[in-house]
Amino acid sequence: MSILSILEPANTSTARPTIARLTTGNIPATVGSDLLVPLADGRVTDYANFDHGASAPCLESVRAAVEAALPSYASVHRGNGYASRITTQWYERARREVHTFVGASTDDQVIFTRQTTDALNLLARAVPADATVIVFESEHHAALLPWPTERTIRLAAPTSTTAAVTAVADALRTAPEGPRLVVVTGASNVTGEIFPIAEIAAVAKAHGARVCLDAAQLAPHRVVDIAQLNVDWVALSGHKLYAPYGAGALIGRADWLNAADPYLYGGGATASVTGDETVWNQGPARHEGGSPNVIGAIALAAACAAITKHREAIEQHERSLLARLRTGLAQLPGVNTYSLFGEEADRVGTVCFTIEGLSSTLASAALSAEYGIGVRDGKFCAHPLVGRLLADSPEHGTAIRASLGLGTTREHVDRLVAAVRTLATNGLTSEYEESTHGCQPANDPRDLEAPHIW
Ligand code: PLP
Repeated sequence: MSILSILEPANTSTARPTIARLTTGNIPATVGSDLLVPLADGRVTDYANFDHGASAPCLESVRAAVEAALPSYASVHRGNGYASRITTQWYERARREVHTFVGASTDDQVIFTRQTTDALNLLARAVPADATVIVFESEHHAALLPWPTERTIRLAAPTSTTAAVTAVADALRTAPEGPRLVVVTGASNVTGEIFPIAEIAAVAKAHGARVCLDAAQLAPHRVVDIAQLNVDWVALSGHKLYAPYGAGALIGRADWLNAADPYLYGGGATASVTGDETVWNQGPARHEGGSPNVIGAIALAAACAAITKHREAIEQHERSLLARLRTGLAQLPGVNTYSLFGEEADRVGTVCFTIEGLSSTLASAALSAEYGIGVRDGKFCAHPLVGRLLADSPEHGTAIRASLGLGTTREHVDRLVAAVRTLATNGLTSEYEESTHGCQPANDPRDLEAPHIW
């Protein structure tokens, strides 16, 4: 069976929707939650998506907001027509929604970006030239790399939350005078563990440092509140927040950003241009040169609204599934899970593991081909951290990451645990080979070509 036939209206409800239910119970519903995928033995099963940490599926309410916006979609801040006026209002309303979502103060600004990587690179451009940046080596590359190397202090991956706070305090005690910035993730994209942000911010503030929170992994799962955490900036991605329309945001203090050169030179960023002088805007417009991604901003705002509304239920849903998954994996001989801070650490729904005697590439290919399960394998754009975690497992250079989310069910968790048990006990029962679509069973009957949809 081809994926195209699976996607055809007659076979499944994944056909182009009329507006679907916006919640399942008290959990926001996602587009494609009934996606069917082919297995290598010719059967079809519903997709068990354990890759929310990479990109989360679209919320039905996000799709509904985007579809409602499209008929009057027009330019933003550039037109006097009716549609432009409406679209401009939606764009600015989206900014306010994101502002509220992270508990920002009146003085904080929201700059729409492409995603977290873009937001952190924007901040890196605005950091004063004499600033020292402090960052853990355990960060995702997006938070690890944008800073000037010669003025960045890289701290070893912490082994406990207390050690994380102490390491930041020690580094700040001996850091050069001048502006300082601590950049830290809210939750590790590899282990899911939650960093002690408020405590790190407290020591940072005591040493005159500012804090940027990489909330890419935290925001979809837990409340992120700038005021409560006492951080200066928050960076996040719409596509990890169930709003895959290409927008993210940098939210926080305006001073460094208003003093910096515009991120993109062009229309929108300018207050006035004459023959020999360009005056740049202050505020978000300064760094939002060019026509903005208004659909992305609307999608992000709709996701923020839905997640805020259902926050408690989302957390409960994910905590119970995570406990089930971790308990299940812990009982499997030959399966090793990895952690920075230990078993008791608070974490979002992400588990990093390896299976003895089986490469993570082959294991993830088998999970897909034989069980309809989607996981990620590799080093997760966090090479130093994965290197550190796997240092005692020389047979493995890479690991498997299972990250759950709104579309995850108990059956998905049980299927994953059962599949890992079988792989750990029996190894692979068929041959796998490299192909243009990655690793797949030899003589794989599945048609893995993406169907033509335009
Ligand atoms: N920070 C963390 C913790 C992440 O997990 C990711 C992506 O996985 C990023 C930053 C980069 O996010 P994006 O690819 O949306 O820019």
